[in-house]
Amino acid sequence: MANQTPATMVIGLDGATYSILDPLMESGHMPYLRQFSAEGVRAELESTIPPITPPAWTTIMTGRSPANHGILDFFRPEAPGSQFLRFVSTKQLQCETIWSYLTRRQRTAACLNFPVMSPPIPISGYSIPGFVTWRHLRHACYPRDLMDTLKTIPGFDLKIIAHDFGLEEKVLAGCAFEEAESWINYHTYKDQQWVKVLEFLSGYDPCHVNALVLDSIDRLQHVFYRLLDPAFYGKGLSEADKQIQSILFTHYRALDNMIARLAEIAGPEGHVFIVSDHGFGPSQYCFYLNSLLEQLGYLSWSDRAISESESAGDVSMEAVKNHGHLLDWQHTIAYVNTPSSNGITINVRGKNSRYGILPEEYDRVRNQLRDQLMALKHPDTGQQVVTGIWTREEAFGGLEAAPDLTLRLWDNGLVSTLKSDEIIKPRRECAGVHYPDGVFMARGPAIRSGVRLDPLNILDVAPSILYAQGLAIPEDYEGGVPEEMIEPEALAANPVLRGTATQGAQKQAADALEMDEADMELIMKRLKGLGYMS
Ligand SMILES: [Zn+2]
Repeated sequence: MANQTPATMVIGLDGATYSILDPLMESGHMPYLRQFSAEGVRAELESTIPPITPPAWTTIMTGRSPANHGILDFFRPEAPGSQFLRFVSTKQLQCETIWSYLTRRQRTAACLNFPVMSPPIPISGYSIPGFVTWRHLRHACYPRDLMDTLKTIPGFDLKIIAHDFGLEEKVLAGCAFEEAESWINYHTYKDQQWVKVLEFLSGYDPCHVNALVLDSIDRLQHVFYRLLDPAFYGKGLSEADKQIQSILFTHYRALDNMIARLAEIAGPEGHVFIVSDHGFGPSQYCFYLNSLLEQLGYLSWSDRAISESESAGDVSMEAVKNHGHLLDWQHTIAYVNTPSSNGITINVRGKNSRYGILPEEYDRVRNQLRDQLMALKHPDTGQQVVTGIWTREEAFGGLEAAPDLTLRLWDNGLVSTLKSDEIIKPRRECAGVHYPDGVFMARGPAIRSGVRLDPLNILDVAPSILYAQGLAIPEDYEGGVPEEMIEPEALAANPVLRGTATQGAQKQAADALEMDEADMELIMKRLKGLGYMS
């Protein structure tokens, strides 16, 4: 090891939220996490706008906001101004990752299952990206022979750590009891294999910083939120639901063991951070924003538009991918750009469209639309539907690729892009959706014990990791080290230092690994299953 700094462990729990973890800790299902939070600090962690997986994890691993790192969504336009979508990759990443920064500071890192890490960026250490199919995984790892090395792990199931989109689609099409059981067990097993990778690497070639995203919580909470939050299940459950709930609790117990094992790898001198990219909460309604835009006169459907009732909730993936065909562009001024971002794009003639409004009309039209959206009331409850709305300048520093308006809904749900007779409809079953408040917990020699902090921002995670490694915080990082989490003596001995800025955009990922059409199709299906395209 080039440097004797104690190890730092970053345990990423995708979608972890206190509304579910706290009851599990209290009821004895997560005893280790309970002990961890009692011995260290805990805080809510405010996510990015919007609070979705790729921009949020990218902020954790760059210390920069989406306006600067450039990852705004699962998708990006195929070409500037195009309505056709592709999946995001490191090629869109505009900032240096913490892994590269650590490499330049003589630290080694293992980063496992982070999104937007493919094609791979060379670092001093190991990288296995998330959201990559088995077919591509070998070429998406760094170093390039990492898969061959991992094959030597006794009893290790290499294939399971890749994303099996086909399985996800099959299970989510309908979740009968047997399917629910195998779906939950699949995630337990998959998380355990990821932990095995880190256990292996920590013996084979220990790194200064080990970071692993376990994504089971996000996947399971999208489907089973109502069985995990006592505010829902407290009202009574069917026998079948009780059985599924008990399997879910078994999963969280297994996860608790995995967290304990990962913390153990950091050793008594090391620091451990447990973070989530966003929180979770219930959503009982579907909001058809493109249909609202039609009602307000901003949007026209093409003859090929698929209505929610015609499709019976089953969107043709070809249609979603080629979303552009659903609209009559000549008569569309504003539309939902992607099904996962809650972002509205305004067509401006000569800028991003052959049609649309004139550039001089832009401010007036956008302000008018913003006012109309803010005035919308829920038909059942009378409450305000759009509770937050940000312009491109407010949310993304004016970034060209960003939506013109980004919305937060009353229930933090994601909008539907489909055609519907009613703008707001109850869902068949309560779904789990991303809420802005995630979790932050930390423990280690320099960390105070048993302290609850005021809410932190997701921008504070990267500086905290660097501080634990005794490094200065790059001056272009937008967050900071929460000094209130550090023991006063430790802080006096090691004050927080600001250092030179990061290197900016990295384009080292020379070996392109664009996803092919088949992969794109599968990812679209998966996102639909998760409720992004309901
Ligand atoms: Zn997530």
